[in-house]
Amino acid sequence: MARFRSLRWRLTLLYLSLLAGLLLLGGVAQYFAAREVLFRTNADVLASEYTAVFGAFHKANASRPAAALRAVILSQQFSNELRSRNTSAAIFDLNGGRVAWAAASLGTDEVPTLTNQAYIDAVQGKGKTYYVASGNDGTTNYLVVLNVIRNGTRPLGLAQLAIPTSEIDQTLRADRELAIIGSLLVLLIAGLLSPLIVGRALGPLEQMAATAGALAAGDYKQRVPVPKTGDEIGKLAVAFNQMAAGIEQAFEVRRQSEAQMRHFVADASHELRTPLTSIAGYIDVLARRTVVDPETLQSSLAAMQQESTRMTRLVNDLLTLTRFESGKAPSRQPVVLDRFLNQALDELSLADKGAAESRDLQAGVTVRADPEALKQVVTNLAQNALKYAPGAEQRWSVFETDGRAAIRLQDTGPGISRQDLPHIFERFYRGEKARDRSTGGSGLGLAIAKSIVEAHQGTMEAASEPGKGATFTAWLPLAA
Ligand code: ADP
Repeated sequence: MARFRSLRWRLTLLYLSLLAGLLLLGGVAQYFAAREVLFRTNADVLASEYTAVFGAFHKANASRPAAALRAVILSQQFSNELRSRNTSAAIFDLNGGRVAWAAASLGTDEVPTLTNQAYIDAVQGKGKTYYVASGNDGTTNYLVVLNVIRNGTRPLGLAQLAIPTSEIDQTLRADRELAIIGSLLVLLIAGLLSPLIVGRALGPLEQMAATAGALAAGDYKQRVPVPKTGDEIGKLAVAFNQMAAGIEQAFEVRRQSEAQMRHFVADASHELRTPLTSIAGYIDVLARRTVVDPETLQSSLAAMQQESTRMTRLVNDLLTLTRFESGKAPSRQPVVLDRFLNQALDELSLADKGAAESRDLQAGVTVRADPEALKQVVTNLAQNALKYAPGAEQRWSVFETDGRAAIRLQDTGPGISRQDLPHIFERFYRGEKARDRSTGGSGLGLAIAKSIVEAHQGTMEAASEPGKGATFTAWLPLAA
Protein backbone atom coordinates (compact mmCIF):
# COMPACT_ATOMS: atom_id res chain seq x y z
CA MET A 1 0.00 0.00 0.00
CA ALA A 2 2.83 2.33 0.94
CA ARG A 3 4.28 1.62 -2.45
CA PHE A 4 1.27 3.15 -4.15
CA ARG A 5 1.55 6.23 -1.99
CA SER A 6 4.98 6.94 -3.43
CA LEU A 7 5.45 9.90 -5.72
CA ARG A 8 6.36 7.60 -8.59
CA TRP A 9 2.99 5.83 -8.45
CA ARG A 10 1.05 8.98 -7.84
CA LEU A 11 2.64 10.65 -10.87
CA THR A 12 2.07 7.55 -12.99
CA LEU A 13 -1.58 7.36 -11.96
CA LEU A 14 -2.09 11.05 -12.53
CA TYR A 15 -0.49 10.82 -15.95
CA LEU A 16 -2.51 7.75 -16.92
CA SER A 17 -5.82 9.21 -15.76
CA LEU A 18 -5.06 12.41 -17.66
CA LEU A 19 -4.23 10.40 -20.76
CA ALA A 20 -7.39 8.29 -20.37
CA GLY A 21 -9.48 11.44 -19.96
CA LEU A 22 -7.96 13.04 -23.04
CA LEU A 23 -8.40 9.86 -25.09
CA LEU A 24 -12.04 9.63 -24.03
CA LEU A 25 -12.66 13.27 -24.87
CA GLY A 26 -10.88 12.92 -28.21
CA GLY A 27 -12.80 9.72 -28.95
CA VAL A 28 -16.19 11.27 -28.23
CA ALA A 29 -15.39 14.38 -30.30
CA GLN A 30 -14.10 12.25 -33.15
CA TYR A 31 -17.23 10.05 -33.02
CA PHE A 32 -19.61 12.97 -33.31
CA ALA A 33 -17.55 14.61 -36.05
CA ALA A 34 -17.49 11.37 -38.08
CA ARG A 35 -21.21 10.89 -37.52
CA GLU A 36 -21.95 14.40 -38.77
CA VAL A 37 -19.75 13.92 -41.84
CA LEU A 38 -21.38 10.58 -42.68
CA PHE A 39 -24.92 11.94 -42.28
CA ARG A 40 -24.14 15.00 -44.38
CA THR A 41 -22.46 12.97 -47.12
CA ASN A 42 -25.43 10.60 -47.32
CA ALA A 43 -27.84 13.53 -47.29
CA ASP A 44 -25.88 15.10 -50.16
CA VAL A 45 -26.13 11.84 -52.10
CA LEU A 46 -29.92 11.73 -51.55
CA ALA A 47 -30.25 15.34 -52.61
CA SER A 48 -28.29 14.72 -55.83
CA GLU A 49 -30.38 11.59 -56.48
CA TYR A 50 -33.50 13.71 -56.19
CA THR A 51 -32.08 16.38 -58.52
CA ALA A 52 -31.19 13.77 -61.16
CA VAL A 53 -34.56 11.96 -61.02
CA PHE A 54 -36.56 15.19 -60.93
CA GLY A 55 -34.56 16.58 -63.88
CA ALA A 56 -35.36 13.55 -66.01
CA PHE A 57 -39.02 13.40 -64.90
CA HIS A 58 -39.58 17.09 -65.52
CA LYS A 59 -37.99 16.87 -68.95
CA ALA A 60 -40.23 13.96 -69.90
CA ASN A 61 -43.34 15.87 -68.80
CA ALA A 62 -42.28 19.38 -69.79
CA SER A 63 -44.82 19.58 -72.67
CA ARG A 64 -47.78 19.27 -70.29
CA PRO A 65 -49.72 22.36 -69.20
CA ALA A 66 -48.83 23.69 -65.71
CA ALA A 67 -51.80 22.13 -63.89
CA ALA A 68 -51.22 18.72 -65.45
CA LEU A 69 -47.53 18.93 -64.73
CA ARG A 70 -48.26 19.72 -61.10
CA ALA A 71 -50.71 16.78 -60.91
CA VAL A 72 -48.25 14.32 -62.36
CA ILE A 73 -45.43 15.53 -60.11
CA LEU A 74 -47.55 15.24 -56.96
CA SER A 75 -48.48 11.69 -57.90
CA GLN A 76 -47.63 8.11 -57.01
CA GLN A 77 -45.75 7.85 -60.31
CA PHE A 78 -43.14 10.40 -59.34
CA SER A 79 -42.75 8.87 -55.89
CA ASN A 80 -42.18 5.48 -57.55
CA GLU A 81 -39.52 7.09 -59.73
CA LEU A 82 -37.80 8.51 -56.68
CA ARG A 83 -37.63 5.37 -54.57
CA SER A 84 -34.82 2.91 -55.11
CA ARG A 85 -33.34 -0.23 -53.57
CA ASN A 86 -32.72 1.30 -50.18
CA THR A 87 -34.52 4.59 -50.44
CA SER A 88 -38.16 5.25 -49.69
CA ALA A 89 -39.85 8.23 -51.21
CA ALA A 90 -42.88 10.36 -50.33
CA ILE A 91 -44.50 13.42 -51.90
CA PHE A 92 -46.13 16.20 -49.85
CA ASP A 93 -48.25 19.15 -50.91
CA LEU A 94 -47.48 22.71 -49.83
CA ASN A 95 -49.48 22.24 -46.59
CA GLY A 96 -47.40 19.26 -45.50
CA GLY A 97 -50.07 16.74 -46.45
CA ARG A 98 -48.71 13.44 -47.78
CA VAL A 99 -50.09 12.80 -51.25
CA ALA A 100 -48.07 9.76 -52.37
CA TRP A 101 -45.37 7.44 -51.06
CA ALA A 102 -43.30 4.43 -52.05
CA ALA A 103 -41.35 2.17 -49.71
CA ALA A 104 -37.83 1.08 -50.60
CA SER A 105 -37.72 -1.91 -52.93
CA LEU A 106 -35.63 -3.82 -50.36
CA GLY A 107 -35.60 -3.63 -46.55
CA THR A 108 -38.55 -2.40 -44.53
CA ASP A 109 -41.86 -1.25 -45.94
CA GLU A 110 -41.81 1.73 -43.76
CA VAL A 111 -41.86 5.30 -45.04
CA PRO A 112 -40.87 7.48 -42.07
CA THR A 113 -42.70 10.70 -41.34
CA LEU A 114 -41.58 13.89 -39.66
CA THR A 115 -43.79 16.35 -37.82
CA ASN A 116 -46.12 18.38 -39.95
CA GLN A 117 -44.31 21.53 -38.86
CA ALA A 118 -41.03 20.15 -40.28
CA TYR A 119 -42.66 19.86 -43.73
CA ILE A 120 -44.17 23.35 -43.58
CA ASP A 121 -40.77 24.78 -42.50
CA ALA A 122 -39.09 23.01 -45.39
CA VAL A 123 -41.63 24.43 -47.91
CA GLN A 124 -40.85 27.90 -46.51
CA GLY A 125 -37.14 27.35 -47.10
CA LYS A 126 -36.35 26.94 -43.36
CA GLY A 127 -35.62 23.21 -43.60
CA LYS A 128 -32.51 21.44 -42.39
CA THR A 129 -30.01 19.57 -44.55
CA TYR A 130 -31.19 16.31 -43.03
CA TYR A 131 -33.44 14.89 -40.33
CA VAL A 132 -33.25 11.73 -38.30
CA ALA A 133 -36.56 9.98 -37.70
CA SER A 134 -37.12 6.82 -35.72
CA GLY A 135 -39.20 4.09 -37.26
CA ASN A 136 -42.34 2.54 -35.83
CA ASP A 137 -40.52 -0.57 -34.62
CA GLY A 138 -38.35 1.65 -32.38
CA THR A 139 -35.12 0.11 -33.54
CA THR A 140 -34.70 1.41 -37.10
CA ASN A 141 -33.67 5.01 -37.61
CA TYR A 142 -33.92 6.88 -40.88
CA LEU A 143 -31.94 9.62 -42.47
CA VAL A 144 -34.52 11.89 -44.06
CA VAL A 145 -33.89 14.59 -46.69
CA LEU A 146 -36.60 17.00 -47.82
CA ASN A 147 -36.40 18.55 -51.29
CA VAL A 148 -38.69 21.37 -52.42
CA ILE A 149 -40.19 20.45 -55.80
CA ARG A 150 -40.13 23.53 -58.06
CA ASN A 151 -41.45 24.26 -61.49
CA GLY A 152 -39.00 27.03 -62.39
CA THR A 153 -39.06 29.06 -59.16
CA ARG A 154 -42.60 28.16 -58.16
CA PRO A 155 -42.75 25.55 -55.36
CA LEU A 156 -45.15 22.69 -56.09
CA GLY A 157 -44.62 20.47 -53.09
CA LEU A 158 -42.01 18.43 -51.19
CA ALA A 159 -40.18 15.23 -52.07
CA GLN A 160 -38.94 13.21 -49.10
CA LEU A 161 -36.17 10.67 -49.55
CA ALA A 162 -35.24 8.46 -46.59
CA ILE A 163 -32.75 5.68 -46.01
CA PRO A 164 -32.26 3.57 -42.88
CA THR A 165 -29.20 4.68 -40.90
CA SER A 166 -28.14 1.07 -40.26
CA GLU A 167 -25.17 1.24 -42.66
CA ILE A 168 -23.99 4.53 -41.21
CA ASP A 169 -24.44 3.12 -37.70
CA GLN A 170 -22.40 0.10 -38.66
CA THR A 171 -19.56 2.26 -39.97
CA LEU A 172 -19.72 4.36 -36.82
CA ARG A 173 -19.72 1.23 -34.62
CA ALA A 174 -16.64 -0.07 -36.37
CA ASP A 175 -15.04 3.32 -36.02
CA ARG A 176 -15.93 3.40 -32.32
CA GLU A 177 -14.53 -0.06 -31.72
CA LEU A 178 -11.31 0.89 -33.47
CA ALA A 179 -11.03 4.02 -31.36
CA ILE A 180 -11.65 2.07 -28.14
CA ILE A 181 -9.11 -0.63 -29.02
CA GLY A 182 -6.57 2.02 -30.09
CA SER A 183 -7.09 3.99 -26.87
CA LEU A 184 -6.75 0.88 -24.73
CA LEU A 185 -3.57 -0.02 -26.56
CA VAL A 186 -2.16 3.48 -26.02
CA LEU A 187 -3.14 3.29 -22.33
CA LEU A 188 -1.53 -0.12 -21.98
CA ILE A 189 1.72 1.06 -23.53
CA ALA A 190 1.65 4.25 -21.43
CA GLY A 191 0.84 2.17 -18.35
CA LEU A 192 3.85 -0.04 -19.02
CA LEU A 193 6.25 2.73 -19.93
CA SER A 194 5.30 5.57 -17.62
CA PRO A 195 6.42 3.90 -14.34
CA LEU A 196 9.79 3.38 -16.01
CA ILE A 197 10.00 6.94 -17.29
CA VAL A 198 8.76 8.47 -14.04
CA GLY A 199 11.05 6.14 -12.08
CA ARG A 200 13.98 7.26 -14.17
CA ALA A 201 13.14 10.90 -13.64
CA LEU A 202 12.68 10.40 -9.90
CA GLY A 203 15.73 8.14 -9.50
CA PRO A 204 17.92 11.01 -8.24
CA LEU A 205 15.37 11.71 -5.51
CA GLU A 206 15.58 8.15 -4.24
CA GLN A 207 19.34 8.43 -4.37
CA MET A 208 19.12 11.62 -2.35
CA ALA A 209 17.00 9.91 0.28
CA ALA A 210 19.57 7.10 0.51
CA THR A 211 22.43 9.59 0.69
CA ALA A 212 20.64 11.61 3.36
CA GLY A 213 20.33 8.37 5.34
CA ALA A 214 24.06 7.75 4.95
CA LEU A 215 24.80 11.33 6.05
CA ALA A 216 22.61 10.86 9.10
CA ALA A 217 24.52 7.67 9.88
CA GLY A 218 27.77 9.64 9.87
CA ASP A 219 29.15 9.08 6.39
CA TYR A 220 29.73 12.75 5.59
CA LYS A 221 31.62 12.05 2.37
CA GLN A 222 28.47 10.87 0.55
CA ARG A 223 27.23 12.97 -2.39
CA VAL A 224 24.58 12.46 -5.07
CA PRO A 225 25.40 12.52 -8.80
CA VAL A 226 24.00 15.68 -10.40
CA PRO A 227 21.88 14.86 -13.49
CA LYS A 228 22.94 16.93 -16.49
CA THR A 229 19.35 17.89 -17.27
CA GLY A 230 19.58 21.23 -15.44
CA ASP A 231 15.96 20.82 -14.28
CA GLU A 232 14.48 21.18 -10.81
CA ILE A 233 15.82 17.79 -9.72
CA GLY A 234 19.29 18.80 -10.97
CA LYS A 235 19.09 22.01 -8.95
CA LEU A 236 17.91 20.03 -5.93
CA ALA A 237 20.89 17.68 -6.31
CA VAL A 238 23.28 20.65 -6.44
CA ALA A 239 21.68 22.19 -3.35
CA PHE A 240 21.74 18.81 -1.60
CA ASN A 241 25.45 18.40 -2.29
CA GLN A 242 26.14 21.91 -1.05
CA MET A 243 24.28 21.07 2.14
CA ALA A 244 26.21 17.82 2.50
CA ALA A 245 29.48 19.71 2.00
CA GLY A 246 28.37 22.20 4.66
CA ILE A 247 27.59 19.39 7.08
CA GLU A 248 30.93 17.72 6.37
CA GLN A 249 32.76 20.98 6.93
CA ALA A 250 30.89 21.67 10.16
CA PHE A 251 31.76 18.23 11.48
CA GLU A 252 35.36 18.61 10.39
CA VAL A 253 35.56 21.91 12.28
CA ARG A 254 34.03 20.24 15.33
CA ARG A 255 36.40 17.30 15.06
CA GLN A 256 39.36 19.63 14.78
CA SER A 257 38.28 21.78 17.67
CA GLU A 258 37.75 18.67 19.79
CA ALA A 259 41.20 17.47 18.83
CA GLN A 260 42.60 20.92 19.69
CA MET A 261 40.82 20.83 23.02
CA ARG A 262 42.27 17.40 23.85
CA HIS A 263 45.68 18.65 22.81
CA PHE A 264 45.28 21.71 24.95
CA VAL A 265 44.24 19.75 28.01
CA ALA A 266 47.13 17.33 27.50
CA ASP A 267 49.62 20.20 27.11
CA ALA A 268 48.26 22.07 30.13
CA SER A 269 48.39 18.92 32.28
CA HIS A 270 51.91 18.28 31.14
CA GLU A 271 52.98 21.83 31.97
CA LEU A 272 51.41 21.60 35.41
CA ARG A 273 52.90 18.20 36.14
CA THR A 274 56.47 19.43 35.79
CA PRO A 275 56.41 21.92 38.70
CA LEU A 276 54.26 19.56 40.78
CA THR A 277 56.76 16.72 40.30
CA SER A 278 59.53 19.09 41.24
CA ILE A 279 57.76 20.21 44.46
CA ALA A 280 56.95 16.58 45.31
CA GLY A 281 60.66 15.77 44.84
CA TYR A 282 61.75 18.45 47.31
CA ILE A 283 59.18 17.31 49.85
CA ASP A 284 60.37 13.75 49.43
CA VAL A 285 64.00 14.71 50.00
CA LEU A 286 63.13 16.74 53.11
CA ALA A 287 60.89 14.00 54.49
CA ARG A 288 63.64 11.40 54.29
CA ARG A 289 66.01 13.37 56.44
CA THR A 290 65.69 13.25 60.16
CA VAL A 291 67.70 16.41 60.56
CA VAL A 292 67.59 19.15 57.96
CA ASP A 293 70.19 21.85 58.06
CA PRO A 294 68.81 25.39 57.70
CA GLU A 295 70.60 26.03 54.39
CA THR A 296 69.10 22.99 52.67
CA LEU A 297 65.71 23.89 54.08
CA GLN A 298 66.02 27.46 52.83
CA SER A 299 67.12 26.48 49.34
CA SER A 300 64.42 23.78 49.08
CA LEU A 301 61.74 26.21 50.19
CA ALA A 302 63.01 28.82 47.74
CA ALA A 303 62.94 26.27 44.90
CA MET A 304 59.44 25.15 45.87
CA GLN A 305 58.29 28.75 45.98
CA GLN A 306 59.73 29.32 42.49
CA GLU A 307 57.87 26.29 41.18
CA SER A 308 54.65 27.37 42.81
CA THR A 309 55.06 30.87 41.34
CA ARG A 310 55.57 29.30 37.92
CA MET A 311 52.47 27.20 38.43
CA THR A 312 50.39 30.18 39.53
CA ARG A 313 51.57 32.11 36.47
CA LEU A 314 50.66 29.20 34.23
CA VAL A 315 47.21 28.83 35.74
CA ASN A 316 46.64 32.60 35.41
CA ASP A 317 47.77 32.45 31.79
CA LEU A 318 45.38 29.58 31.10
CA LEU A 319 42.52 31.48 32.70
CA THR A 320 43.28 34.59 30.62
CA LEU A 321 43.49 32.52 27.48
CA THR A 322 40.19 30.72 28.05
CA ARG A 323 38.53 34.00 29.00
CA PHE A 324 39.41 35.62 25.66
CA GLU A 325 38.94 32.50 23.58
CA SER A 326 35.47 31.83 24.98
CA GLY A 327 34.22 34.41 22.49
CA LYS A 328 32.84 36.74 25.18
CA ALA A 329 33.26 40.33 23.99
CA PRO A 330 35.68 42.38 26.16
CA SER A 331 34.26 45.46 27.88
CA ARG A 332 35.50 48.30 25.74
CA GLN A 333 36.14 52.00 26.07
CA PRO A 334 37.94 54.55 23.89
CA VAL A 335 41.70 54.20 24.30
CA VAL A 336 44.06 56.85 22.87
CA LEU A 337 46.99 54.64 21.97
CA ASP A 338 49.95 57.05 22.37
CA ARG A 339 48.83 58.04 25.86
CA PHE A 340 48.06 54.44 26.76
CA LEU A 341 51.40 53.04 25.50
CA ASN A 342 53.44 55.80 27.18
CA GLN A 343 51.85 54.90 30.49
CA ALA A 344 52.17 51.14 30.00
CA LEU A 345 55.84 51.32 29.00
CA ASP A 346 56.61 53.70 31.87
CA GLU A 347 55.13 51.18 34.29
CA LEU A 348 57.22 48.39 32.78
CA SER A 349 60.42 50.52 33.16
CA LEU A 350 62.22 48.52 30.50
CA ALA A 351 65.38 50.60 30.73
CA ASP A 352 65.85 49.31 34.28
CA LYS A 353 65.71 45.76 32.90
CA GLY A 354 68.52 46.38 30.44
CA ALA A 355 66.58 47.19 27.27
CA ALA A 356 67.28 50.27 25.20
CA GLU A 357 63.81 51.52 24.49
CA SER A 358 62.60 54.08 21.93
CA ARG A 359 59.11 55.36 21.15
CA ASP A 360 57.58 56.77 17.99
CA LEU A 361 53.93 57.29 18.81
CA GLN A 362 51.49 59.00 16.45
CA ALA A 363 49.25 61.22 18.54
CA GLY A 364 45.51 60.76 18.82
CA VAL A 365 45.09 57.27 17.30
CA THR A 366 42.06 55.94 19.16
CA VAL A 367 40.63 52.45 19.40
CA ARG A 368 37.82 50.95 21.46
CA ALA A 369 39.38 48.38 23.75
CA ASP A 370 39.67 46.88 27.19
CA PRO A 371 42.79 48.77 28.49
CA GLU A 372 43.71 46.02 30.96
CA ALA A 373 43.70 43.40 28.21
CA LEU A 374 45.65 45.67 25.85
CA LYS A 375 48.23 46.20 28.60
CA GLN A 376 48.64 42.44 28.83
CA VAL A 377 49.48 42.36 25.10
CA VAL A 378 52.13 45.07 25.53
CA THR A 379 53.54 43.34 28.62
CA ASN A 380 53.80 39.96 26.91
CA LEU A 381 55.57 41.46 23.88
CA ALA A 382 57.94 43.47 26.06
CA GLN A 383 58.76 40.49 28.26
CA ASN A 384 59.41 38.30 25.24
CA ALA A 385 61.83 40.89 23.86
CA LEU A 386 63.54 41.02 27.27
CA LYS A 387 63.77 37.23 27.33
CA TYR A 388 64.70 36.46 23.74
CA ALA A 389 66.51 39.66 22.77
CA PRO A 390 68.23 40.59 26.03
CA GLY A 391 70.00 43.96 25.90
CA ALA A 392 68.66 44.66 22.42
CA GLU A 393 66.85 47.82 21.42
CA GLN A 394 63.03 47.84 21.61
CA ARG A 395 61.44 50.27 19.16
CA TRP A 396 57.83 50.88 20.05
CA SER A 397 55.54 52.66 17.63
CA VAL A 398 51.87 53.56 17.26
CA PHE A 399 50.41 54.55 13.88
CA GLU A 400 47.33 54.48 11.74
CA THR A 401 47.11 53.16 8.20
CA ASP A 402 44.31 51.93 5.88
CA GLY A 403 41.72 52.65 8.53
CA ARG A 404 43.47 50.48 11.11
CA ALA A 405 45.48 51.30 14.19
CA ALA A 406 48.73 49.50 14.99
CA ILE A 407 50.91 48.96 18.03
CA ARG A 408 54.29 47.70 16.89
CA LEU A 409 57.38 46.44 18.68
CA GLN A 410 60.56 46.00 16.71
CA ASP A 411 63.58 44.56 18.48
CA THR A 412 67.16 44.20 17.35
CA GLY A 413 67.61 40.78 18.88
CA PRO A 414 68.44 37.45 17.24
CA GLY A 415 65.02 37.21 15.53
CA ILE A 416 62.94 34.07 15.01
CA SER A 417 63.99 31.10 12.89
CA ARG A 418 62.03 30.24 9.75
CA GLN A 419 60.87 26.95 11.31
CA ASP A 420 59.53 28.68 14.42
CA LEU A 421 57.88 31.71 12.81
CA PRO A 422 54.67 30.01 11.56
CA HIS A 423 54.06 28.44 15.01
CA ILE A 424 54.92 31.07 17.60
CA PHE A 425 51.26 32.05 18.15
CA GLU A 426 50.26 28.46 18.91
CA ARG A 427 49.47 27.58 22.48
CA PHE A 428 52.43 26.04 24.37
CA TYR A 429 54.72 26.50 21.40
CA ARG A 430 58.24 27.35 22.39
CA GLY A 431 60.92 28.24 19.88
CA GLU A 432 63.97 26.08 19.51
CA LYS A 433 66.16 28.37 21.61
CA ALA A 434 63.47 28.80 24.23
CA ARG A 435 62.99 25.12 25.07
CA ASP A 436 65.36 25.52 27.98
CA ARG A 437 62.91 25.98 30.82
CA SER A 438 65.18 28.35 32.76
CA THR A 439 64.80 31.09 30.13
CA GLY A 440 61.69 30.03 28.22
CA GLY A 441 58.18 30.61 29.41
CA SER A 442 55.23 28.26 29.04
CA GLY A 443 54.67 29.11 25.39
CA LEU A 444 51.38 30.93 26.10
CA GLY A 445 52.49 34.59 25.96
CA LEU A 446 51.93 35.16 22.24
CA ALA A 447 48.84 32.92 22.13
CA ILE A 448 47.30 35.14 24.83
CA ALA A 449 48.31 38.32 22.96
CA LYS A 450 46.74 36.97 19.80
CA SER A 451 43.49 35.89 21.46
CA ILE A 452 43.15 39.33 23.11
CA VAL A 453 43.73 41.19 19.83
CA GLU A 454 41.31 38.89 17.98
CA ALA A 455 38.66 39.37 20.69
CA HIS A 456 38.91 43.07 19.68
CA GLN A 457 38.35 42.12 15.99
CA GLY A 458 42.03 42.79 15.28
CA THR A 459 44.88 40.68 13.97
CA MET A 460 48.33 39.87 15.31
CA GLU A 461 51.34 39.70 13.01
CA ALA A 462 54.95 38.67 13.44
CA ALA A 463 57.82 39.13 11.01
CA SER A 464 61.47 38.39 11.40
CA GLU A 465 64.66 38.22 9.52
CA PRO A 466 66.79 35.82 11.55
CA GLY A 467 69.79 37.60 13.01
CA LYS A 468 68.24 41.02 12.51
CA GLY A 469 65.47 41.03 15.11
CA ALA A 470 61.75 40.45 15.25
CA THR A 471 58.73 42.69 14.64
CA PHE A 472 55.33 42.18 16.27
CA THR A 473 52.29 44.22 15.22
CA ALA A 474 48.88 44.28 16.82
CA TRP A 475 46.34 45.64 14.31
CA LEU A 476 43.11 47.00 15.78
CA PRO A 477 40.04 48.61 14.21
CA LEU A 478 39.92 52.39 14.71
CA ALA A 479 37.23 53.79 16.99
CA ALA A 480 34.36 55.08 14.85
P1 ADP B 1 57.05 31.82 25.79
O1 ADP B 1 56.24 31.63 26.97
O2 ADP B 1 57.90 30.66 25.44
O3 ADP B 1 57.72 33.12 25.74
P2 ADP B 1 55.51 32.89 23.67
O4 ADP B 1 54.21 32.43 23.14
O5 ADP B 1 55.52 34.24 24.29
O6 ADP B 1 56.02 31.78 24.63
O7 ADP B 1 56.55 32.85 22.50
C1 ADP B 1 56.66 31.75 21.64
C2 ADP B 1 58.01 31.65 21.06
O8 ADP B 1 58.24 32.76 20.17
C3 ADP B 1 59.11 31.75 22.05
O9 ADP B 1 59.38 30.48 22.58
C4 ADP B 1 60.27 32.25 21.20
O10 ADP B 1 60.94 31.21 20.57
C5 ADP B 1 59.61 33.10 20.15
N1 ADP B 1 59.72 34.54 20.41
C6 ADP B 1 58.80 35.34 20.99
N2 ADP B 1 59.20 36.62 21.02
C7 ADP B 1 60.44 36.65 20.47
C8 ADP B 1 61.39 37.68 20.20
N3 ADP B 1 61.16 38.95 20.55
N4 ADP B 1 62.55 37.32 19.62
C9 ADP B 1 62.80 36.04 19.28
N5 ADP B 1 61.92 35.02 19.49
C10 ADP B 1 60.78 35.31 20.07
